[in-house]
Amino acid sequence: MDNEYLELLERLYQKLPKKSGTGERFEPPKVEISYIGNQTIIKNFIFIADSLRREPQHLLKFFTKETAAPGNISGKQAIFQSKIPAHIVNSKLEAYIKEFVLCKECKRPDTKIIKKDKKLFSLKCEACGAETSIRSI
Ligand SMILES: [Zn+2]
Repeated sequence: MDNEYLELLERLYQKLPKKSGTGERFEPPKVEISYIGNQTIIKNFIFIADSLRREPQHLLKFFTKETAAPGNISGKQAIFQSKIPAHIVNSKLEAYIKEFVLCKECKRPDTKIIKKDKKLFSLKCEACGAETSIRSI
C-alpha cells in the first residue's frame, strides 16, 4: 500500500459518523453514599438535584416515599434515618429520572415540571415540546 491510498482511507474514516442513533444517552450523576450508624447519607444530594434541574425537596420526597425512610436535607447532603443499600439508592434515582426528568417522547433530559393544578403536574420538554402529565409525590 502506498501513502496515497492510506491517506484516502484515513479521510474516509473521518467522514464516517462517530456514533449511530440519535443524540447522546443521558448519564445520571454518580451518587456518593456514606453510612453512619443506621443513617444513610447522600453526600452530593444537592449536586444531583441541580444536575437534574429539579428541586432538592422534590427529589427528597420521592426518596423518602420510595424507601419509607424519613430524611432531610442538611447543607449539600441528604440524611436518611435508615440504612438504604447503594444499589437501592441508585435504582430509585434511575426510576426518578425516568419518571420525572426524561422526556417521554424524545428521552432527553431538557425538561421542566409545570404545575397545572393543585395535584396536576406535567413534564414539559424544551427539546421537542412534548408535554406529558406526571403524578404528584
Ligand atoms: Zn422531548
